[in-house]
Amino acid sequence: MPTLRMGDWTLHTIETGFLWLDGGSMFGSVPKPLWNRTNPADERNRIRLAMRCLLLSGHGRHVLVDIGVGGKFDAKLRDIYRLEDEPRLADSLTAAGVAPEAVTDVVLTHLHFDHAGGATARRDGRLVPGLPNARWYVQRRNWENAHAPNPRERASYMPENYDALEEAGVLELWDGPVRPWPGVEMITAEGHTRGQQLLRVEGGGSAAYFVADLIPTAAHVRIPYVMGYDVAAIETMDEKRRLLSRAAAEKAWIVLEHDPETALARPVEEHGDFGWAERVPASAA
Ligand SMILES: [Zn+2]
Repeated sequence: MPTLRMGDWTLHTIETGFLWLDGGSMFGSVPKPLWNRTNPADERNRIRLAMRCLLLSGHGRHVLVDIGVGGKFDAKLRDIYRLEDEPRLADSLTAAGVAPEAVTDVVLTHLHFDHAGGATARRDGRLVPGLPNARWYVQRRNWENAHAPNPRERASYMPENYDALEEAGVLELWDGPVRPWPGVEMITAEGHTRGQQLLRVEGGGSAAYFVADLIPTAAHVRIPYVMGYDVAAIETMDEKRRLLSRAAAEKAWIVLEHDPETALARPVEEHGDFGWAERVPASAA
C-alpha cells in the first residue's frame, strides 16, 4: 500500500472497499461523454468509487481519517450502492501493522454514510463505536447539519452511523480549524456539505492533504468538476482553488478518498486550472 513519511508521521492509505454512485450526480454539470471516459458507468449509470481512508502513525498515536461505509447496510442498500466489501478496514489496518484496537483517534471529515458508516457497528442488537479504543472527532457544524439535514442530503445522513459515539462518551466536536497534533492542521470546507473538514499533515519538509469530498476522484482536480451532490458549487470551486494552489506550491501529496485507482497524486497548475504532475496507484507496494 502507498506509504509516505513526513517527519515523525508515517502515512498509510487504508482501503475499505468500494461503492458505486450515480455518475451524473458525481460530476454535476460535466457531460457524460467526458466523465465516462475516465470513470466508466455500469448499466445503472453508476461509477466505481473507493472508500480510502488515511492512517497517521506517530507521536504515540494511530490516527485514522474517515472509516468507510461499515457493515450495517441491508440487502436493498447493498444493491443500490453495489457495495464491494473487500478490502476490509481491519485487514487494511493489519497490513499497515496496526491492530484495530490500537487506533487511538478517528477524524471524520463529515458524517455522510460513505465516510462515517463504519463509525458504529451492531453488537448483540446494540450500536457501539466501530473501533473500541478510539476517540472520535467531527466539526460541530457538521454534527448539527447531520441532525437537521436539508431534503437533498437527508439520504446521506443516517443517525445510526454516529449517535452511538455521543452515547458512548467518545465523541468530541471541534469548532472550526484546529491543530490537534504536531504538524496536523484541520481545514474546514463548506461547499460539499456544511462543516466538512480536511486534513493537512506536514513533517520533514513535505506535506500531504486528505481532501475527502472536495476532490473525490482524480478527475475532480479540474475546478469546474463539482459534484451534483454539493450544497454550494461556487464555494466548492473557491475552496478547491485555494487548497490546490497551496498544495501545488508546496509540491504536496493529495490523498484521493474515492478514486478507484489513484491513491495519491501531486497537483500542478495548468493554464489557470489544475492537473496532476504525478500519481501513485492504490496497488503500489
Ligand atoms: Zn460526502
